[in-house]
Amino acid sequence: MKLFLDSIGCRLNQSEIETMARQLLAAGHEIVADVGQADKVILNTCAVTREAARDARKRTRRLHRQNENAEVVLTGCYATIAPEALRRVEGAGRIVPNQDKEQLVQILDPATRPATRIELLIFDQEPLLRDLPSTPTSFVGRPFGNTRAFVKVQDGCDNRCTFCITTVARGPGRSRPLRDVVREIQALAAAGYREAVLSGVHLGSYGHDFGTQHGQGQRLRDLVIAILNDTDIPRLRLSSLEPWDIDADFFTLWQNKRLLPHLHLPLQSGSDRILRLMARRTRRGSFRRLVQAAQAAIPDLNLSTDMICGFPGESDADFRQSLTFVREIGFSRLHVFTYSRRPGTAAAQMSNQLPKEERKERTRQLIALGQDLSLAFHKEYEGQERDVLWETAVGADDGGLRWAGYTGNYVRVTAHGSGDLFNTIAPARIQRADPDGLHGVILVQKSGQEQSKP
Ligand code: SF4
Repeated sequence: MKLFLDSIGCRLNQSEIETMARQLLAAGHEIVADVGQADKVILNTCAVTREAARDARKRTRRLHRQNENAEVVLTGCYATIAPEALRRVEGAGRIVPNQDKEQLVQILDPATRPATRIELLIFDQEPLLRDLPSTPTSFVGRPFGNTRAFVKVQDGCDNRCTFCITTVARGPGRSRPLRDVVREIQALAAAGYREAVLSGVHLGSYGHDFGTQHGQGQRLRDLVIAILNDTDIPRLRLSSLEPWDIDADFFTLWQNKRLLPHLHLPLQSGSDRILRLMARRTRRGSFRRLVQAAQAAIPDLNLSTDMICGFPGESDADFRQSLTFVREIGFSRLHVFTYSRRPGTAAAQMSNQLPKEERKERTRQLIALGQDLSLAFHKEYEGQERDVLWETAVGADDGGLRWAGYTGNYVRVTAHGSGDLFNTIAPARIQRADPDGLHGVILVQKSGQEQSKP
């Protein structure tokens, strides 16, 4: 069977689609990059905002139009909370809710023996992912490979942030056993991956659900230590962490340089009044102290956050506090969301819902501030040399390829270099910065020769 896989939304969705790809490959199916060649399409949907839900419906229709013969199988958060709405969309095929997602491969192909996660990783993807064609232009935009793996260690959440539909769609918090995660990362390192990214709906709550049966007392800190001690993965990254789940002591983990200096701490609002209405378990003062501790403990820290604009009841003064606080903290990147009224959440019932134009205008202002902050952060890198894990060729010309990858602290770099640098860590000299990242030339370590073209 030939399958085309697509995903909307967060890193967890991306991690799940990668796991599905491995399961399908291990079962002898083929993953195709062109939807027109597929027998079936799997779309992992998102419901975090109204736009994400709209995107799921739009993408379903588009995939169907691109290949009317292929069934479009729908899973993920929107498929779980609004199956009826999706069923009415032109081209929608089977709907597989989140709780059945792990069996999706067996649902599509009942003859498939469920492979264990470790078997999946030992399965050799090399021939599929590494059959480099002879001309450099034809491997531009290679979709994925074994460079950076998203490892889902946890699902669900026990909090009740009043804007969040995720807890409805994903259920209560559940963590994977620590040894299971360590074995997976050992296998990833053996398969050639250079970086593992730990992900979860509420990553910082890892282990809170462990009872007396196994793992009692194990928390995210123990998981990180075990991975650093018992695996050879060269780079380990943590995805989003809720600020109330960690403290200053947690940052001592970064004494091990394999843990990458990037923290994504969702703030959501810079007004204590709005944070209270959101039922967030952080306030400006505690957030500020946490960031100061992180900055003192982690050299070269890249700090990013999520913000919501136009939460019900957000006044001009609240919004101005957000702008001021974001500037004071000096985040390097903002992910800005316009508040979206999601049925089933407490915030949807609140009075004082703001008009759409006002929510959009505040979003625009915060995005503009985020761009300024990103540019200022990136400018500091001009003239420096930085190690980059090269992941994709994004362009080509007669002198070779333009490669894209990420620094250890998660700044995107594009740079010119000849030859195949896929999955290598090599330094680049940074020449130019913009709000989206850095641009430069790749310095080839082997020969000591600098690539000739910027
Ligand atoms: S911590 Fe809050 S925002 Fe995050 S998943 Fe849980 S309820 Fe949603």
